[in-house]
Order: sequence, then structure tokens, then C-alpha cells
Amino acid sequence: MTKQGAKCSFCHKPKDQALVLISGVDAYICESCVEQAQVIIDEEIMPFHSEKDPQVNAIDGAEMKVLKPLEIKKLLDEYVIGQDDSKKILAVAVYNHYKRITQKNKYSEDEDLEIEKSNVIMVGRTGTGKTLLARTIARLLNVPFTIVDATVFTEAGYVGEDVESMLTRLLQACDYDIEAAERGVCYIDEIDKVARKNDNPSITRDVSGEGVQQALLKMLEGTDILVPPQGGRKHPEQKLVKVNTKNILFICGGAFSGVEKQIAKRINTQVIGFRGNDLDELDLDNLLQYISHQDLKSFGLIPELLGRLPVLTYLNPLDKNALRRILTEPKNALTKQYVRLFDMEGIKLSFTDDVLDLIVEKTLEYSLGARGLRSICEAIMTDAMFEMPSQTDLKEFVVTADYAKAKLSKIKLTVLKQAV
Ligand code: ADP
Repeated sequence: MTKQGAKCSFCHKPKDQALVLISGVDAYICESCVEQAQVIIDEEIMPFHSEKDPQVNAIDGAEMKVLKPLEIKKLLDEYVIGQDDSKKILAVAVYNHYKRITQKNKYSEDEDLEIEKSNVIMVGRTGTGKTLLARTIARLLNVPFTIVDATVFTEAGYVGEDVESMLTRLLQACDYDIEAAERGVCYIDEIDKVARKNDNPSITRDVSGEGVQQALLKMLEGTDILVPPQGGRKHPEQKLVKVNTKNILFICGGAFSGVEKQIAKRINTQVIGFRGNDLDELDLDNLLQYISHQDLKSFGLIPELLGRLPVLTYLNPLDKNALRRILTEPKNALTKQYVRLFDMEGIKLSFTDDVLDLIVEKTLEYSLGARGLRSICEAIMTDAMFEMPSQTDLKEFVVTADYAKAKLSKIKLTVLKQAV
């Protein structure tokens, strides 16, 4: 029972203005102060349970689902067109990763055989599906997964993020379950951007290049890392959490634009030196397929780091056929998305074959890569999406090549290029 004239001892709200007034030995607290107190408790005692990152994929305590490499590849096929080699390599890497983790207790401790993890590096022009592959794998997996961009990293002490921040994201992905994070998968995008900037490291400090590679090295080889659970430098007072990276699988991706020069140089020397006849068999338009660790070293990645990324794979540039398939085949293909959008308005949308060919042609013409498909489609569809919702009697809409040409003629190429 509360006394007559009692009020909250914290905010002095009188009893008749509070919904609930809880009494203590000789103090009272109202419901809003209880709520406030809870917020403070959450921040102080359980800092690990706040600030979820939208870029990360939570696992919600689900059991690890072990998929066989063939099953992983099949699922990847539903979302990613082509790139079979990379899919196979990723499927095997991920499967082995599971096996190392789930079956390590099957063998006795004293057996000195330890299966080392095989971190992966993917090379491919921008817009060929590197991130898409990583994201799709994330959907299939039941281990924590995060995607980070290497461009934000700088050497400790400089403006930017420390490489440890990727472990913060991994921790956030599994609600700060350290054990789960320690068997997670981390995709590091744009790894080529941390290449050494010049051949002579002593001229200037290379804080976003070699400095970052050195920091990554430690992480990739597997060691205990102290991680700020709420991320980097904004919360200097937080307690650090120890995460061991020995069982975290790292997948790196990068465009490495210009690496073809190093490949050509290497192949040329080899050919002149030893194998004169092989030159005719080389596919000079797609040199990336011959990429080796040596070329990445010439590009500016330090050998120690490359040694920790033993699996190297490349993604093919997308040709006409692949682009055409990307438009219609994947589970969330662009055309399917438009059909769904119009269906929500009660309109049956369809694309003729020749308009699909036109979209692919224009994408190739403007060399916009797969990302360009979307810009071209938007340019064609914007007017329709603007007008249709008001045309209540319209039940069907067919997008033809003539319609598309009329729409595209209004858009300047420069606008499309900027959009990508
Ligand atoms: P990057 O190689 O630069 O990481 P992304 O994976 O981000 O390229 O690709 C950009 C977009 O292009 C994706 O969102 C996807 O819609 C499309 N795309 C690229 N490659 C493929 C592919 N092989 N299959 C299906 N869609 C693709």
C-alpha cells in the first residue's frame, strides 16, 4: 500500500499521475523510472545486447545445418548465374569448414593431425557476383556471417576503422555468443584496396594499405583478438571481449583492376622461357582465368597475407548470355521483381523477348556490367510505375522493345553511367 501524498522518489511524480507506484522500504518508484532504469541496466551491464548491425545475418541459436557441397552449389545456382568454378570452390571451402568444426571431437586429441582452414580469395571484375555469392552463402548457412568492406580499414591509430571491427560485427550477428562467432564466416570485400600503394614501403606511411594487411594477417592466421563489443573508437570505456579466430573462415573478394597486366607479364616470360607453343591456346580476352598468387603479390598484397589465403578463385566476366539469364532466371530476378510490384497493383506485367534482348544489348553497349541491368530497367519502367497506380481500369501491361526504345531515348547515357 502506498501512503497518501506519496510520490516517485526519482522523478517526484505524484501517485495520482503515475500508472504504478512501487514502494520500497522508504522510497517509491514509478513505471517510467523503472523503464528508464532498465535502459541504464541494459547499457551498463549487458552492453553486448544492443546495437544490432543491419548488414549482419543473425543465426538465432539455430543448430548448424550441414549441407553437402553439391547441395550448396545447387542452392547457389538458384540465385547466381554461371561462375561454376567459384561456386564449387566456395561450396567445398564452406563444407570443409563445417566438417572441421563439427567433427573435431571424433578424433582423439593426441593425434597430431590438424586440418587447417582454407581461407578463400575471389578475384573478378566488379558486378560479376562476388558479393552476391557471399550473401547467398550467408542465407544458406547457420553460422554467423558478416560482410565488411576493406576500404574502411586503416592501421590502428588513424582515422577509419580497425580490422577488429569485423569481429564486432560477427559478434553482433550471433547476439554476442562468442562460441558461435568463433566458428563464423567473414566476407571481406574490396580486399584489393588494401594493396601496397608503392613498391618502397619506407617513403610514406601506408596506413590504409600494408598497415591493414599486417593487421589482417594476425586475424587470418588464427589467434586471440581483443574485440570492442560495441565497435571501435566511439566507446573507449567498454570492456574488451576475447575472440579466437582460429576457426573463423575468411572469404576475401576484390576486382584487382589492372592485374591482367601482371598476369600477361608473367605468362609472357613463362612462354618465352619454356613453353613457346602454349601461347596460341591462351584466351587473351580473359586473362583473369590464369590468375595466380604470384600476380596478386605483384599487385601489392604481401606474401604473408597471401599465404593465409590458400584458395584462389576467379569470376568470369558476364557475357550476353549470362546477362540475359540474370534478367529472368534467379529466384529474385529483376523481371520477377517488377512483375510482383505490378501484381500488387492488380496489373499483369510481362516482358517480350525482344525487350529483354534490348536491355542486355544496352547494358553491354554502355559497359555497365550486371549492375547496369537495373539502371536500364529503371529507366524503362519509371514512367509506367508512375502512371499505372492511377489507372484503375488497367489489367495488363506488356513491355515491348518499341516502348523501351522510346523511354531510353529520353535518357542520356551519362545519367545511366552515374546511376551505377
Ligand atoms: P561484385 O562482384 O562487384 O561484388 P555484386 O555481387 O555486388 O558484384 O553484383 C551486383 C549485382 O549484379 C547483384 O546484386 C546481382 O543482382 C547482379 N549479378 C552480378 N552477377 C550475377 C550473377 N552471376 N548472377 C546473378 N546476378 C548477378
